[in-house]
Amino acid sequence: MAHLIPVLVQTPAHSQIGGALTYRSESPLTPGTLVRVPLGRRETLGVVWDGAAAHDASLDPSRLRPVSTVLDALPPLGPNWRELVTFAARYYQRAPGEVALSALPPPLRDLSEVQLQRRLRRKTPPAGATAGPPASPEGTEVPAGQAWPLSAEQQVVMEQLRHGEGTFVLFGATGSGKTEVYLQCVQELIERQPDAQALVMVPEINLTPQLQQRFLARFAPQFGAEAVVSMHSGMTHPQRLRSWLAAHLGTARIVLGTRMAIFASMPRLQLIVVDEEHDPSYKQQEGARYSARDLAIYRGQREQARVILGSATPSLESWYHSRPRAEGGRYTRLHMPSRVGDQARLPLVRRVDMNHQPRRAVIAPPLLEAIRQRVAAGEQSLVLLNRRGYAPVLQCSACDWKSACPHCSAYRVFHKIDRSLRCHHCGFAEPVPRACPECGNLDIAPIGRGTEQLQEHVAALLADVRRPGSQTPEQPQGLAVNVARIDADSTRLAGSLQSQLAQVHSGEVDVLVGTQMVAKGHDFRRITLVAAINADNALFSSDFRAPERLFSLLMQAAGRAGRDAAVSGHSEMWIQTFQPQHPLFDALKRHDYPAFAEQQLRDRASAGLPPFSFQALLRAEARTQEAAQGFLDAASAAAQAQLADLPGFELITLYPAVPMTIQRVANVERTQMLVESPSRKALQNFLAAWHELLHTVRQGEAGRGLLRWAVDVDPLAI
Ligand code: ADP
Ligand code: ZN
Ligand code: ZN
Repeated sequence: MAHLIPVLVQTPAHSQIGGALTYRSESPLTPGTLVRVPLGRRETLGVVWDGAAAHDASLDPSRLRPVSTVLDALPPLGPNWRELVTFAARYYQRAPGEVALSALPPPLRDLSEVQLQRRLRRKTPPAGATAGPPASPEGTEVPAGQAWPLSAEQQVVMEQLRHGEGTFVLFGATGSGKTEVYLQCVQELIERQPDAQALVMVPEINLTPQLQQRFLARFAPQFGAEAVVSMHSGMTHPQRLRSWLAAHLGTARIVLGTRMAIFASMPRLQLIVVDEEHDPSYKQQEGARYSARDLAIYRGQREQARVILGSATPSLESWYHSRPRAEGGRYTRLHMPSRVGDQARLPLVRRVDMNHQPRRAVIAPPLLEAIRQRVAAGEQSLVLLNRRGYAPVLQCSACDWKSACPHCSAYRVFHKIDRSLRCHHCGFAEPVPRACPECGNLDIAPIGRGTEQLQEHVAALLADVRRPGSQTPEQPQGLAVNVARIDADSTRLAGSLQSQLAQVHSGEVDVLVGTQMVAKGHDFRRITLVAAINADNALFSSDFRAPERLFSLLMQAAGRAGRDAAVSGHSEMWIQTFQPQHPLFDALKRHDYPAFAEQQLRDRASAGLPPFSFQALLRAEARTQEAAQGFLDAASAAAQAQLADLPGFELITLYPAVPMTIQRVANVERTQMLVESPSRKALQNFLAAWHELLHTVRQGEAGRGLLRWAVDVDPLAI
């Protein structure tokens, strides 16, 4: 007898085939089993899915195509994993096949059953079998990592975690020992339950080596190096396959990873940690635009796994949901306000009122003086500017010419190092013209300032300072101050970030200039001064989340200063601003995230913004603005005309379509339309019904000239 088997395959985004396809098999197949099936003329990887196969009674089962191979060397993907995929696909408005297949490691798509069996036989030795300390990813010895005796605050938190359940927000200052809490929670779990697994997520690939070392040092001696695996997009395909298999088979007890790791198959998942949970990197920005943090909460609930969301500046959503239960909070808030260690005080925050500084001063004289003193004392400073390149635009002094990108509605940035004009949106680059391309004038000048120029400028300002102790008989004047730079340009080559960080750690660098990428997570023990040069930009942004992001960035940056107890007695965070009285800086000065959050939440509540409402964006891309707008207008009209009877429709607000902030990128016009509702359920119902209509609109007149459309649920940038 032939069995009808529903199978998910990777379908092109938005193809009408939303659900599973039906295949024929001689034997019944368990849901979650991996199979190879014919699709068109190819053969492709599929996952046997739940539910009855969609079957048209008139269809002769013998005409269905058969499953080609059953990869039954591998245990089927479990019901929890399938449920997660189904939920994510529905919630983020994508095809389940797309979500399921992109969550599997790429090599799985190409392995034959024989290769897979060979791979599984070659499986890792049993946990605990390795002798001696394991090698870290860089090949250096991992130091023995013992558990610290916990501080009083850490103990209280651990007690609450032991006895509570559900989702926790661990609100802890940078350096308060959150990571130590994660480590000890994981340890208690995997010691108590011999097969339990934990998932620990960080926002950036760059942060994984550091974390991996810490976890290996702690757990490899007892559980073997195989007990800890990583999952992120910077790994090679074979590495990803190995980690994935170890997690799926349960050999890996701990999975460390970036947002993609939320889809790891972990049959015995008991604990999920989302470190720096406020970080926007947890939101995928293409394909299925999922939030790994939000999926972690869903997954935790569903699998009865504890979820810890850690941050010094929680997202306002998590903060709000962790308000006292009596007020309707759903998560448990845990608090660790102090840094670990005797003298490890939080840095002093100083505001520099730029209204009272010499005009055009990039670095105010008192800040410069403070940096000089740090250099003289052999300490390091970090100067932050969120703009890479030399200057954001070149301009002709005689005519109107500016270095606009011909393909985008943006200026090309001047990079002095290779004398190029580069567009940071589409990548278009050209050598800097010798003269103005419009009028031939030779005088074209940079306007504004990026990190390249800041590095040059700081070095010039400190030209008369010598590195302390650098005078030798051969070099009686001593050495010049070393000003280094770390940003996306300086770290383009693989491994360059690690080597640049190593230089900072070794003390070769006196002043480090960088973008926000250095403010995130990296531990700089010898930096005692952090300065934000131009913090004001975000205060005037049209994005309602800009203040939240600025506050967390500055708090995080301040946290970089003086994590070493020996020097932190006098560590400082300097903020140059034209708005010194702004409440954001006031709260920052007091390291008072709760006050900041309260004020923001009040604003959000009165404006009806998240977390008091729920949003989605419909985005459209076309060759012309009219085509993109036309599609969105038609989509809106179709909703009004055909969905008005939908339950909850009165709770939906459809805003007019507006061009995106950078409306043209690589010759593509981009427009978006905001949909908002005070009810998540109403919004979800609406989006599901609308999705069908959007396909129809796309096929009709209004879809002409449209290149792409996509729905972004819970968007982070509007
Ligand atoms: P966070 O993750 O909150 O920034 P970490 O867990 O990284 O903080 O802790 C900061 C530093 O303090 C680390 O070097 C860590 O090893 C150390 N540390 C953490 N807990 C303790 C403790 N109970 N006693 C001594 N040192 C600790
Ligand atoms: Zn000109
Ligand atoms: Zn461009």
